Formats: sequence, C-alpha cells, structure tokens
Amino acid sequence: MLGRTIFIDPGRCIGCQACVSACRECDSHRGKSMIHLDYPDEGHTVASLPTVCMHCEDPVAPCAEVCPAEAILITADGVVQEADPTRCIGCANCVNACPFGVPKIDLEAKLQMKCNLCYDRTSYGLAPMCATVCPTGALFYGTVEELQAERPGVDVSTMFAFGDTVVSTGVAMVVPGEHRAPVPGGMLNLIEVNGRPTPGNGARA
Ligand code: SF4
Ligand code: SF4
Repeated sequence: MLGRTIFIDPGRCIGCQACVSACRECDSHRGKSMIHLDYPDEGHTVASLPTVCMHCEDPVAPCAEVCPAEAILITADGVVQEADPTRCIGCANCVNACPFGVPKIDLEAKLQMKCNLCYDRTSYGLAPMCATVCPTGALFYGTVEELQAERPGVDVSTMFAFGDTVVSTGVAMVVPGEHRAPVPGGMLNLIEVNGRPTPGNGARA
C-alpha cells in the first residue's frame, strides 16, 4: 500500500531543471544534484524525464543488498538512504545493482551518493525539495488519493519489468488509467523497461 511518496508524471515534465537545482539544496548531499533529468529523444521531441531513487521494495533495495560494507541503510518506513560516508568504500557495486541507474560515485571522496527522498524533510512530513519546486507537478508528493483527486483518470504503477524480472517500488510512476495490464495476482500496472512484454510477465499478449 502506497503512503505518502513521490509520483513521477513524465507527461508533465517540461525539462526546466528546477528539480535538479532544488536537489542541490538537500542537506545530505549539499551542492550536488541526485536527480537524473533525461531527454530521451533529443533533437526529435522535447520529451524529458526526471528519475529519482525508486526505493525498491521487492526485491528490497538491490543496492543495499550488494553493498559489502553495509553502508546503505533502509529505514523502517522503507526509505533507502544514501551511503553512510563512514562505511562506504566507493566500490560501485550499488551502481551496478540498481536497475534504474540511480546511485552515483563521487570518485574523489570514494563515496556513493543518491536520492534519499529528502529524508531530512519527508521524515517531518514536508515534501522533498524537487516536488516542492516542480512547476508542472511532474514530481508530485502525497498519497495516491491526493494525486487522483487532483488528476482524475490517472493511475499509478509501482511495478517495473526488466526482462523476466519484476521490481516493485515505493516511488510510483503516473500512467494513463486505460493502460492497466494484468499481472499475476490481479490487475496491476506494469511498466516494461527493456525487452519485449510477454504474457508470462503479466503484460498484454
Ligand atoms: S522541475 Fe518538474 S518540470 Fe522541471 S525538469 Fe524537473 S520534473 Fe521536469
Ligand atoms: S532505485 Fe536503485 S538506488 Fe534506489 S533503492 Fe532501488 S536499487 Fe537502490
């Protein structure tokens, strides 16, 4: 069940980089932005897509799972923290394990850095910096009910297929309501990240 979280609504992103600038203000990685803002078809369309840490729930945080130094803490409320600088050895195992390409390594500091959902703010009920400044609501912080009250007809997905592997996440992607697809266990949205959708992983035949 999704509580308050970030919802990414790529159709609303205008590529203005306000989120990137705001992310630099986060206390835990002051001065560096942890948002990846991609322009997937630059030169042909103005499409842009912000990526923050998806806070993987199942399997739980592959980044933390592979960390040999146990530097990545997962809080009781499911937030996957950036690496503890006193433990991280900068080996980049987490970079290779993350299906969404989120963690970055500061080579000089030999330290992994990534989005931590602005835990200094969200643990006190405040919205993350990026969602606070996004002028279009492409990054929305709240509950799914609050999102849908504001945007009738949208649905959300927390299921991502990487070939045969499905990852469910604590951060959600906004999808058009009519794009629901059956997956084992019921009608859920599933986003195919690479490879071809197959009936076996729950996508439409
Ligand atoms: S602030 Fe919002 S609209 Fe601007 S680039 Fe970031 S996500 Fe896109
Ligand atoms: S998106 Fe990447 S960095 Fe975030 S929890 Fe998942 S594996 Fe870890």
